[in-house]
Amino acid sequence: MGKIILTGDRPTGRLHIGHYVGSLKWRVELQNSGEYDKIYIMIADAQALTDNIENPEKVRQNIIEVALDYLSCGLDPEKSTMFIQSQIPELTELTFYYMDLVTVARLQRNPTVKSEIQMRNFEASIPVGFFTYPISQASDITAFKATTVPVGEDQLPMIEQAREIVRKFNSVYEEVLVEPEAFISQNEACLRLPGTDGKAKMSKSLGNCIYLADTAEEVKKKVMNMYTDPTHIQVSDPGHIEGNTVFTYLDAFSRPDHFEKYLPDYAGLDELKEHYQRGGLGDVKVKKFLIRILEEELEPIRKRRKEYEADIPRVYEILKKGSEAAKEVAAQTLTEVKAAMKINYFDDMELIKEQAEKYKKES
Ligand code: ATP
Ligand code: MG
Repeated sequence: MGKIILTGDRPTGRLHIGHYVGSLKWRVELQNSGEYDKIYIMIADAQALTDNIENPEKVRQNIIEVALDYLSCGLDPEKSTMFIQSQIPELTELTFYYMDLVTVARLQRNPTVKSEIQMRNFEASIPVGFFTYPISQASDITAFKATTVPVGEDQLPMIEQAREIVRKFNSVYEEVLVEPEAFISQNEACLRLPGTDGKAKMSKSLGNCIYLADTAEEVKKKVMNMYTDPTHIQVSDPGHIEGNTVFTYLDAFSRPDHFEKYLPDYAGLDELKEHYQRGGLGDVKVKKFLIRILEEELEPIRKRRKEYEADIPRVYEILKKGSEAAKEVAAQTLTEVKAAMKINYFDDMELIKEQAEKYKKES
């Protein structure tokens, strides 16, 4: 059995640097490592509709944005299959059957669903589709027999749910499905990058993002306005680094060579942190350093984006081709699933023979 990646994003906005460090960067690295037999990257439009039913245009508009972000980060259509979820009806069919393998109580216990319901103020008005999206996500993963799912920390309960569905299916029916594993960053700051407001995780739905497509000017402005340590008023004041977003971003993005290049007075991040905590280091200096690091990462992405923006029909063509290829794979899995569940009546010669003989005896 090969090593297969499936992962994706909801087209609810452009992708941001939280996506980048949490998942996107890894996908590109794994893609270029050559260690994976197949890589599927899904734009989860059907999932995005579960909590945007009033706003389908938002989802429709953001498909191209997410695709442009993928391509500009270095996902390569020659190596990775990029596709649109809603164009693969087999995924919906799998979801319908998997729903029988999961209890309502189990979904209610899912911590990510719980917090997302709270964040969206759904209370009693949760759409059934939103509530059951972990099941649909299990379909997305298992349809491609994915072994590896690169995600941010908030998605771990979803992978666990998918694993349970796989185990249940394989034990009730036949060993058809593959148990996936989450691939998460070893760098703690990358697991759940906070927003520029320092509050929750950076999230398209919360408007606290630095987008991959932001201009250099926008990035600069956002970093300069970023939440730091409210008790660090004078440069000479001792500062705190815990919960200080600028330092969390440095944890996520800085490398030793950045210090050599931009801040040679400091041996590394530990020394910079010590100075800040001791007092005598101003926010502006740290923010300017962060801006240079972010620019080094974002500038090539922005440049590649411009190239793809100049040929939008080509980007849709990439998604169309990817969706066609993905559909074939999902259809094959669905055939196996239905055979295991014995709901493949017309292909089941045994069944037809058995019934024929039964009625022959009776007559
Ligand atoms: P929405 O608010 O619409 O849910 P989102 O910003 O949470 O959008 P998703 O499309 O739900 O983005 O997530 C796509 C992937 O990016 C997932 O693997 C998720 O874990 C990861 N991710 C999202 N936000 C962050 C973040 N702030 N830090 C690290 N990873 C993240
Ligand atoms: Mg999300």
